[in-house]
Formats: sequence, structure tokens, C-alpha cells
Amino acid sequence: MAGPQKPRLTLILPALLRVAVLGAIALVLGIVFDAKLGLWFAVISLGVLLALHMAYLSLLGVWLERPSLDTVPQGFGAWATVFTRLYKAHRASQLFERRLADNEERFRRTISALPEGIVLIDAALQIEWCNPVAEQHLGISLRADTGLRLTNLVRDPSFVAYMTSAHFEQPLVFRPLNNPALALSVAVIEFESARSIVLTRDVTQTERVDAMRRDFVANVSHELRTPLTVVNGFLETLLDAPDAPMDGVRRHHLQLMHEQAGRMHRLVEDLLMLSRLESQESAVVEEDVDMGALLRELTNEARALSGGKHGLSYEADAAHVRGSRDELRSAFGNLVSNAIRYTPAGGSIELRWTVSDQGGAFSVQDTGIGIAPEHLPRLTERFYRVDKSRSRETGGTGLGLAIVKHVLLRHQARLTIDSQPGHGSTFTAWLPRARVILQSERTAAAAAQ
Ligand code: ADP
Repeated sequence: MAGPQKPRLTLILPALLRVAVLGAIALVLGIVFDAKLGLWFAVISLGVLLALHMAYLSLLGVWLERPSLDTVPQGFGAWATVFTRLYKAHRASQLFERRLADNEERFRRTISALPEGIVLIDAALQIEWCNPVAEQHLGISLRADTGLRLTNLVRDPSFVAYMTSAHFEQPLVFRPLNNPALALSVAVIEFESARSIVLTRDVTQTERVDAMRRDFVANVSHELRTPLTVVNGFLETLLDAPDAPMDGVRRHHLQLMHEQAGRMHRLVEDLLMLSRLESQESAVVEEDVDMGALLRELTNEARALSGGKHGLSYEADAAHVRGSRDELRSAFGNLVSNAIRYTPAGGSIELRWTVSDQGGAFSVQDTGIGIAPEHLPRLTERFYRVDKSRSRETGGTGLGLAIVKHVLLRHQARLTIDSQPGHGSTFTAWLPRARVILQSERTAAAAAQ
């Protein structure tokens, strides 16, 4: 940091010289004429000098109250230097301010020209600034709404929940109440500890194409369901018919057809399940799901699926979950069936349901083949498989983890995968605290009824 500046002698040297000259004249007058005359001369001349300085000081004071380039005072001697420097400093600061304002204006014009909406908010979600696209997207006004809480102006529940959550890893897609024809994608970028940028993007067109794709897949799956059921039914009848003796080859072919038809049936069912989960219209059914009972059921099913080839165990806290029983059962069931399908005989699988202050965690831990780290980010994509043939051989559709992801998304939960090739994997579904019903809460609710 710069310390206090020292007085500069060169600036006051002329003034000192002037005083010295006046003193010398007073001395000469005193010696040549009369001491009194010299004294009077000294007093009067110093008084005049003092008055002059006072006048300049006052001029400086007046100018500093309202500094302007046009009114910088004129002066003589040291004051002339001071005023000239003041003029230069003031002009430099004015230029700097103008350049700053120009840059800010250019920055705002650039941001305003972007096709994305931008809203600058503080830690209390109050609007500091927004561009015209954001005004149009969110139905807010820079002039009227600056300083107001964004969530008080855009009241869509999903938007409010998103903005007040601390999780902005995924953007939110929603249709604003004031303009339901518009599909908006909203992302939040935290750029200073107390400020964030809210980015809005019109994704109506992409959503429309996506909806068309979803409808198409759902329709095709739906149309395939009935013929497949018929084919499956007849194949079963043929295989089971006691009055139709068959040679080994024909039976083998029929069995293959039955297996493949079964695979197609599972594929169609999974595709239909995914379309149901993806269609945003159906809200999550809010049921009280007894996790202890669910884990027991899943373990029993896993036992049947494993056929005694794996060690199976489970432990569950007493807490329940608020959510859709069917959806959670399907998601957790997929994790369990994966654990069995990707764990060689002799391995073990453990199901766990634990609760902490942060929420609940359902995990499936296996001692199976594990997954290499490069595959982990893509596992929840549809039809992404590490080993296609193993997936098919074990009856996989390639859609299990995509279903898990969607179910968890609908329950504001997340999936984490911990895995080491050759050592096994742990898939954990993290449910938010709001979805966990502790035993004490259940008892209190029952007592209140
Ligand atoms: P699939 O029907 O092929 O199992 P999923 O979507 O359920 O489809 O899983 C995607 C891929 O993730 C699987 O093909 C498999 O490679 C891998 N995977 C899933 N669960 C496990 C697990 N417990 N252990 C090892 N790999 C797994």
C-alpha cells in the first residue's frame, strides 16, 4: 500500500523565495529609512500574501464541492501548478469513467443480443439485472422488478423448488405459468459466493421433437405388446403341450423362440415404463412406502432369481419413504437384478437402507465383475452396456439403469456408483430428507389423527 506522501520543496520554493524577497526589502527599508517603515512593509506585504493564499484556498474549496473541467480556477505561483495538476487528474478520471461506462454499455448490449435469457441474482435470489430475453421468458421487468425476489415473481412450484435447492448440476425444464406454450430450460451458475447467474433457454422446439420421439416409441411399444403376448402364449402352449411329442431339435428351436419373445416382451415393457416416467404430466404418487417390507420382498425375489448361487442379505432402518411404491420398487428391483446378473456364482449381494440427517440411502452392494471408471458416466444412458453379450445372455434390456435414473429424478433423488473392476460395485440411491418419514414422525402423525 502507498504510504502518506511527503511535501515537495520545489512546489513551495517560489513562495518561500517571495517571502524571503519581501523580508529582504523590509530589512533594507528598515535600515535605510526607518525600522517602523520596514516593519509595516513586512506586515502589510505578508498580510497581502496570506489573503491571496486564503482566497485561492477558498476557490479550491468551492471547486471541490462541484468539480468540473470548465471551472478549474486559475492561479499564480504554486497555486497555478496545483490547479493545473487538478485539471489533469480530473480529466484523466473523467476519461476513465467514460471508458468504464462505454465498456459496461457494450457488455450489456452484447448480453442483450444473446438468444439466452440472463438474470443476475444475489444470495437472497433478488434480481440485480436481467436482459430483455429473460424479461420475455420469465415475465419479469428490469425496471419494475429489480431488487425483488425472483421466486416471488416466477411462482411455478418446480422453478421455486429448483431455485431454492442447492443442486444445479442438471438444468430444469419447465413451462412457465404465464406462458404454458413455452418450454424453458433453466440453469444456475454460481460465480461469486453471494451471486449467481440464471440462464434461461427456449427449448420448445427440442421438447416438441422429444415429445414426438417419446410418443413414437410409446406407440410402437404399445402396438407390439399384443402380438407379442399372443406369440408368447402360443409358444408356451406348444412347449407345454403333452400331446405333441417333439424331437430335440424342434423343442430347442421353440425354446429359443420363447426366450427371444420373452426378451422382446421385457424390452417393450421397459420402453413403456420409460415413456410413462418421461412424460412430465404424470406426477409422482405420494405414498407411504415401508422400506423394511420392500427390502424383504426384493431380497426374496433376488433369492429366486439367483437360484441359490449367491449369498444374499439385507438390513433396513425403520424409516419409510414418501413416493411411488411401484416406481421405487421397479428402480430398486433393477439394481438388485443387475447385482445378481453381474455377480458370478459364489459372490454375495447386500441390500441396505440407512437414514441420516441428510436423507435416506438405498444401496445394493455386490462382489461382482465391477465396472471400469470410463463407463460410469454413460451407464444410465438407454442401451449403454459395458458388455453387450453378457447383458443379453442374462436377459438384460439395456434400459434398467435408464429407468432407475428417471425414477430417482422424479423423486428428487440421485444415483451414485462406486465400482472396481474385478471387485464389485455399490449402487446407491440418495433420497432427499423431505422424502424420508422417520419412525418418530410416523408415531407423531398417528397420534395426531
Ligand atoms: P442391462 O439390461 O444391460 O443390465 P442396465 O441399464 O441395467 O442394462 O445396465 C447397463 C450396464 O451397466 C449393463 O449392461 C452392465 O454393463 C452395467 N452394470 C449395471 N449394473 C452392474 C453391476 N451391478 N455390476 C457390473 N456391471 C453393471
